[in-house]
Amino acid sequence: MENKSWTVTYRNRDNGQRITCTVFAQDRQKAQERAGADEQIGGCEVWEVESVEPHEETLARILVSEFAEKQQGGHFACPRCGKMTMDAEIVTRNALSRRATVYICDSCGMAEAMEDMANSRTPLTAWSIVAAPGNWRMEEGGNECEA
Ligand SMILES: [Zn+2]
Repeated sequence: MENKSWTVTYRNRDNGQRITCTVFAQDRQKAQERAGADEQIGGCEVWEVESVEPHEETLARILVSEFAEKQQGGHFACPRCGKMTMDAEIVTRNALSRRATVYICDSCGMAEAMEDMANSRTPLTAWSIVAAPGNWRMEEGGNECEA
């Protein structure tokens, strides 16, 4: 089985500071173990593993946060469901996502609240904007290399 790349977020118990690094492992559990073994970063033991997520999720998060800045200056489809269901006049009238600092349409906001209650979150990699970033004019310098 091939190794996947995972983003590990460490949190400093003393001051709440966070750092991230990448580990390679076959699955989340192995990634977690490896991250735990590296916990003495910089020779101190105050770092704890806060989260381990697939690298694709990290890339999706970066894309969404880049879009969040753009979103303030234009009228876009909802980045989560891809429908033109956003309040066009004032973007902050829409729902603020619980997954990222970005506005989504009301029904997506509701869907996320339901997910939280059911404790089954949709990853950012399932968002429409991640599947088709061009529709949100997010293609410049794209990450797909067709060599
Ligand atoms: Zn939506």
